[in-house]
Amino acid sequence: MSLVSEEYGMFLDGTFHTSGGVFSVEDPATGDTIATVASGNADDVGTAIESAINAQREWEALDPQDRGTILQDVATAVEAAEDQIAEIVTQENGRPIGQSKAIAGGTSNYIAYFADLADKIEGESIPVPGERHAFTRREPLGVSAQILPWNAPVLLCARGVGPALAAGNAVVAKPAPEAPLGILELARTMSEAGLPDGLFNVVPGGGETGEALSTDPRIDEVTFTGSVPTGKRVGRAAVDNLVPMALELGGKSPAIVFPDADIEAAVDGAIHAITMMSGQVCFATTRLFVHEDVYEEFRSSLLEAVDQIEIGPGRDNPDLGPVISGEALSNIETYVTEAIANGATAISGGSRLDRKGHFFEPTIIEGAADDAPISCEEVFGPVVNLYEFSTEEEAIRRGNDTDYGLYATVWTDSVGRAHRVANALEAGSVMVNQYSGSTPATPFGGYKQSGIGREKGKQALDHYTQLKTVNIDIS
Ligand code: NAD
Repeated sequence: MSLVSEEYGMFLDGTFHTSGGVFSVEDPATGDTIATVASGNADDVGTAIESAINAQREWEALDPQDRGTILQDVATAVEAAEDQIAEIVTQENGRPIGQSKAIAGGTSNYIAYFADLADKIEGESIPVPGERHAFTRREPLGVSAQILPWNAPVLLCARGVGPALAAGNAVVAKPAPEAPLGILELARTMSEAGLPDGLFNVVPGGGETGEALSTDPRIDEVTFTGSVPTGKRVGRAAVDNLVPMALELGGKSPAIVFPDADIEAAVDGAIHAITMMSGQVCFATTRLFVHEDVYEEFRSSLLEAVDQIEIGPGRDNPDLGPVISGEALSNIETYVTEAIANGATAISGGSRLDRKGHFFEPTIIEGAADDAPISCEEVFGPVVNLYEFSTEEEAIRRGNDTDYGLYATVWTDSVGRAHRVANALEAGSVMVNQYSGSTPATPFGGYKQSGIGREKGKQALDHYTQLKTVNIDIS
């Protein structure tokens, strides 16, 4: 039985509401409509913001210990609802159910991590001359607007909502129209677990709804996760409103495989880049630079591993699910076709699958120029590029030769080289000998066009608070 209800409302002030319009959400594995969802307009956004403003005053006034206790209860409830949320996310964005369950587990971890920190948001005492006591306080901002993508909707929502609430703010979230259902279920679960009404409102809709939220002068902060062009637009609105922003944008991440690497582990990392959410992941290492001494070994192991990839609907827990939409499928096809027309070769895959739903073969491209579109732009599909290099300097230079700077992986047995290369790579996160060691405690964000600000870790609490200096004459 499907866990997805056929009709979803907006989640405002602790309950579901209808709106003037609705939109459909489809299952990318079949193309069938699975639910209709209320589409929020500017009035609905305004109602959500007013509800958040009212709820935030009382939330801020609570003892931080009490905020932490409520959020711990919320985290426990989200953990209990993990499987249900995972199944909903798999239906709406196609992610294999095993991956969705792992991600749903991460969702409660985020909330629990920041719940623990709610009473550890501290200021400093500043030594000043004379008989004075100067100190700082970290105070909440007010209403945080959070605009989200469809690829890891619930996890990314908790990544922002967790620290925002722990720091004493309220949230209005705008999920992507492709995948709003998991976030609506998350809001319902958090509310039923005792989160006060109005602290976490969800207004589904498309770009217009996002624009109404990001430009509203009543918001006090904006966190955007999505593409570079939309991020810049949201950033311009934040400047007009003079509110802090966190922009978590795209990537074109390198993986660098040195001759002393554990080749099996590095191949496994490359397979993750292809299969995790069908390659539709901001940090996917889609540019594989492999040293000439191990190139043939890596290439043949990768081809062997790609042959083993099972493809199917996310609910059957294959290795590789569908991509999000027919439009996404066409974009991927265009990148691959254009690369091949310009002399590159698809040494594996290269085509859409002739079946219902939006499926593309796991694809390895060899021989693409470093400045080809497929080497420079986000393909957002199960496609990686293979390049050969000779020296460490060359690998660093080519790895950094991108407008993005979100992530990188380095595969080597040398401690010295690991440090050297990690330091030289222009990326917000560098993993050594692993594809992802991410936890709620590890800050995440982009260099260059990959964004502004950092999510996760204690640093996220700095973003969701403003600093006040108090200076008292005690003479
Ligand atoms: P997108 O930019 O198309 O949409 C993101 C969100 O912005 C959606 O909710 C969308 O409805 C909304 N939006 C669209 N127009 C808007 C406007 N004018 N004003 C305000 N909001 C608007 O991105 P997407 O296709 O949903 O997601 C894929 C992108 O997200 C990729 O580039 C990926 O790399 C990036 N991403 C980044 C991270 C990260 O943490 N850095 C994580 C996941 C995805």
